[in-house]
Amino acid sequence: MLDIKTEFTTNPKNKPAVEALGFGQYFTDHMFIVEYTEGKGWHDARIIPYQPIQIDPSAMVFHYGQAVFEGLKAYKTVDGKVLLFRPDRNFARLNNSNERMVIPAIDEAFALEALKQLVTIDREWVPDAPGTSLYIRPFIIGTEANLGVHPSKSYKFIIIMSPSGSYYKEGINPVKIMVEQKYVRAVAGGTGEAKTAGNYASALKGQEIATAEGYSQTLWLDGKEKKYVEEVGSMNIFFKINGKVVTPALNGSILPGITRDSMIQVLKSKNIPVEERRITIDEVVEANKNGTLEEVFGTGTAAVISPVGELKYLDEKIIINDGKIGEVSQMLYDTLTGIQNGTIEDTFGWTIK
Ligand code: PMP
Repeated sequence: MLDIKTEFTTNPKNKPAVEALGFGQYFTDHMFIVEYTEGKGWHDARIIPYQPIQIDPSAMVFHYGQAVFEGLKAYKTVDGKVLLFRPDRNFARLNNSNERMVIPAIDEAFALEALKQLVTIDREWVPDAPGTSLYIRPFIIGTEANLGVHPSKSYKFIIIMSPSGSYYKEGINPVKIMVEQKYVRAVAGGTGEAKTAGNYASALKGQEIATAEGYSQTLWLDGKEKKYVEEVGSMNIFFKINGKVVTPALNGSILPGITRDSMIQVLKSKNIPVEERRITIDEVVEANKNGTLEEVFGTGTAAVISPVGELKYLDEKIIINDGKIGEVSQMLYDTLTGIQNGTIEDTFGWTIK
């Protein structure tokens, strides 16, 4: 056990009903916080009651967006244990984001131990209905009170947690996705592979356009030629073409999804051919025309798998697999959720109690 100063709440909140959970609306009783000061490093790690934080209006994060974050989940297994899924990967990715945004590195092992303590304290908040989980949001912000454009000299690293409902109410539902034509999410050499707040702010416009046309998310093409498929909203994307699974290779502008990596490993373990390479939107359109586009699905922590039932590109509406969930998508969903809820043996060593 780490020596983290802990102040327990004297005023525990009522837990919302499972049906009311939704996503990101309710927060548990406690949070983790640690400060960074130049010359002193990270200090004063503590677990305290969930509460507002006080920050100067001139804090760098508000003006120049020096902010990084992560998203992972704790799951309750069928026999009542609480599991984290590959949390080490999230803290490693947080440090990659830190490096890109000139934020000091965190101690990954310390962060993981702190998270375990926080989850243990708030374990009653991990919902146990099928498909529900405790969403965990670690984030770091630049707090130096200064309007000069330079890396902040002080930071806060905070972890908050939010019980979240089942993504799918009645089984897995295929989503409709619109290929964005005008705007791009990231460019080579930009911040696409970092999980930084600005990427999400700049993606809102595409999301707004997609929503207005009745689509649930945006499929982003590369920032230079608008030719190569990159990723979807907050998911990585996979295509099954003629028996082979293809996903865009990590190229610096795509977020390296932890679900993406897990899916690739599951596919390989089942001897299903999987390729990480560049794929053009024209190749997808062509595969649809000649009848070899078998499945399309997004992967991410939120939904695990989102089968894509319709893809809108220019004026064309591509209907995939009759808008139904495909065999490989279903297998991947069952495998990952089974490992997460403890009904399938975790032969990959991905879960931590
Ligand atoms: N791409 C983007 C832009 C995302 O925000 C996310 C969610 N973190 C993903 C992909 C999927 O990543 P993961 O599987 O680690 O949740």
